[in-house]
Parts: sequence; structure tokens; C-alpha cells
Amino acid sequence: MEPKTNINFRKETLTKLLNEIIIHEKEIIDALYFDFKKPAFETVISETGYVIAELKETIKNLSKWAKPKRVFPSLLNFPSKDYIYKEPYGKVLIISPWNYPFQLALCPVISAFAAGNQVVLKPSELTPKTSEIIEKIMAKVFIKKDVNVIEGGIEVAQELLSKRWDYIFFTGSVAVGKIVAKAAAENLTPVTLELGGKNPCIIDETANLKLAAKRIVWGKFMNAGQTCIAPDYILIQKDMKSHFVDYLKKQITKAYGEDPSKSPDYARIVNRKNWQRLVDKIEPEKVIFGGKSDSENCYISPTIIEETSLDTEIMKDEIFGPILPILTYSTEAEIENIISKFEKPLAFYIFTENRIFSKHMIQKYSFGGGCVNDTMVHFSNKRLPFGGVGHSGIGAYHGILSFDTFSHKKSILKKSNFLDLPFRYAPYQDKLGTI
Ligand code: NAD
Repeated sequence: MEPKTNINFRKETLTKLLNEIIIHEKEIIDALYFDFKKPAFETVISETGYVIAELKETIKNLSKWAKPKRVFPSLLNFPSKDYIYKEPYGKVLIISPWNYPFQLALCPVISAFAAGNQVVLKPSELTPKTSEIIEKIMAKVFIKKDVNVIEGGIEVAQELLSKRWDYIFFTGSVAVGKIVAKAAAENLTPVTLELGGKNPCIIDETANLKLAAKRIVWGKFMNAGQTCIAPDYILIQKDMKSHFVDYLKKQITKAYGEDPSKSPDYARIVNRKNWQRLVDKIEPEKVIFGGKSDSENCYISPTIIEETSLDTEIMKDEIFGPILPILTYSTEAEIENIISKFEKPLAFYIFTENRIFSKHMIQKYSFGGGCVNDTMVHFSNKRLPFGGVGHSGIGAYHGILSFDTFSHKKSILKKSNFLDLPFRYAPYQDKLGTI
């Protein structure tokens, strides 16, 4: 589809957006704090700072990304010049979740607009202050025809999904991802689905336990565990467990103090419904650390659970909160029994000093992406595609891949008329020789 906007206009508009985000950064931080007490530091590193970096990268590279790319021709077509043209799909619908409500709404919008599409964004109804500021900033920068923000809940999302789109980009739960995929199938609309899953975190007997605890506490309890790529459960070599749990407890206390409810660095659960869902997963007799909660403030303290069964509420599906079950293994077969019980996860973490073990795990299991000896940070490299596989999602984005996600790749072969080899034309007679 012919773009409705030219590259220079897109760059100028994105520069305007960049300036508005910088001007309103404090307001954005306050909105996220209002919505679920997200700490300012976490907002800057995972929301505003991330979006600002993405904008700068896009503005800098847009002309290069949008240019038709010449590729080697096939000898069969000699003489020709072959190109890949990137064209916008047209009308794009973006539906975003509440857990990183600024970043997960803005990043796809930036790329979809940069690729020349017209965009409708439906942000989450569960973080209303953030959605309000998003709408305000967008209205200052874009005309509605280019980017329109439509606020609302499930009915609004369903109404939007009933319309015809040229591309749908959805971030959210697996259950709603299936609803989106069904709606998209009605018109054969291509989709990106950024979903979730039960992300394992395997720790073997060679791991640096102290450092592992530090990095796992950071990845698990940032955003109060409400992160699609947070470690969901620990699977640790049996003999290492008690040492590791000691380090975990110390690290949680170091990060959030004796009473995390007083810590300025610890977020809250987004609403009462999610709070109740999480509290119902906690079996008090299995709690070995934390387990404190307060419905008034949607607070749940960083909680460690000792788990031996896979048939419990906590092990049923993605936890998406600050509860960390610890399971143990003795043999590799036990690792396999546990991991293969779940759908392909979005993230996978391995803590080990044994390169053969990490290589083996990476090759053996299918998952979206992950880290060896860290958690979550693969998200921050724009050169790494970010997305799931199987139930954790379809498609991937970040960096140039985001631009490509929102561009149809049109293949064009420009043939020269100066030579016309006769081989392909009928009559074929005995052109195949003796086969
Ligand atoms: P959600 O699926 O409940 O909601 C996401 C969006 O879909 C919201 O805008 C909501 O209004 C809309 N929605 C909800 N129900 C709908 C329905 N029946 N029909 C149409 N639209 C509907 O997800 P959430 O609770 O906002 O976010 C948490 C989930 O998102 C977790 O599962 C998490 O793993 C996943 N997630 C994935 C990524 C990723 O990048 N892969 C990032 C963040 C969150």
C-alpha cells in the first residue's frame, strides 16, 4: 500500500514525539506511580528511557530501513536487478497490556508509524492514568488519521477487533491472544502476538549462587513480578537449594528492606482482582519467606514458596506476580519432566558455569528467548529479536525488526530486455534431456 506519509514527515513527527516525552517524563513517572506505585527508577529504565532510546534509534535509521534493498539476482533470470521494497500494510491496530503500560503501547506505535502505517492504539484500561497521558501526548504530536488513541476496556477492544485491519499487533495474555487470532483470521489479517508463559529458571551445581540470587531477585521482583519475561519458577539442583534460598532471602532484604511495604522501590499489584488471584495461589504452609499481603493496598511481599508438586495453583499457569516457587531436580530427566509439562515459554534462564550444560539446554528446549547467568536483560538489546514461540507468541520485534514487522516486503525483479535466453519457453521438446 502506498504510504500516506513521507519519510521526512515521519522523522519530524517522531522527533516531536521524542521532545514531548522528554517534556512530560515527570508526568509519565507520576502516572505510573499512581496506577500501581511503579518506582520512578523502574519507570525510567523500562518505560520512558526505553522508549526514548527506541525513538532515537528509529529516527536515526529510518531512511536506511525504508530504502528498497538490492539483493543478488538469480543466474536463472540473467540479466536482472532484484529488490525488496518495504511498504506499509495500511491500517494497523495495536492493543497493549497494563504491566509496562507506556513502553508496550508506545514502541509498536513508533515502529508502525515509522513504517508509514495509520495506527489505532487501544491501551489498557487497568492503568487509566498512564493511558490518559499517552492519549494527551499522542494528540499533541499526531493527527488522528495517523495515530489515534482509543481508550476503553474489553468491549472497546472487541469492537475494534470486529473491524477490518491490515495488521494487528497484540501484547497480552495467551487467552486473549487466541481471541485476537480468531478475529484476525476472519480477514486473514497478519498478526504479531506478544504473549506470556511459565518461564523456568534452571540453576545447576556449578552456578555462582550469590550472583544468581541477586540477578533473579532483580528480574523476579521488578514491577512486583508483573513482567512477561520474569522468572516464573526456580528449578535448582537439589543439593544447592538451601544455600541458594539463604542468598535469595538476604538479597530480597537488601533490595527492599525488612518490610518491603515501606520500600519506595517495590511496586503494587495492579488491581484487587489480580491481587486476589495471586493470594489464592499461596499455600501458607509452603511459604518459606514473605507471604505478607494487604488487600487495601494491593500489596504482596516478595514471597518464596517451597514446591514439590506440579498440580498446584501456583504451578498451573503463568504466576505474573511476586511469588517465586522453588522446585528441585536430581537428574536431567526430572528437568525434562517439569519443563515439558508446560507450553513453550516466552523466556528461559540458565544459571551455570558449565558451558556444555547451557548449550544443551538452549538446544533442547523451545522458548522465545533468554539468558545464561542473568534474567530479562536480553530484552534490552535492540539487535535481538523479542518474541515468543508456540503459546508464548507469534512474531518478534525490536530495532530494525520492529520496522520490518510493520512492513510488507514486496519482491521486485527488474528484467533487462537486452538479452532473452530461450530455454524456459515452449515448445520444451527434449530440453530435460534423458530423465
Ligand atoms: P490481557 O490479555 O488481559 O489484556 C491485554 C489487552 O487486551 C488490554 O488492552 C485489554 O483491554 C484487552 N483485552 C482483555 N480482554 C479482552 C477480550 N476478551 N477481548 C479483546 N480484548 C481484550 O493482558 P494483561 O493482563 O493486560 O497483561 C498481562 C499478560 O500480558 C501476561 O500474560 C503477560 O505475560 C503478557 N505480556 C506479554 C508481553 C510480551 O511482550 N510478550 C509483555 C507484557 C505482558
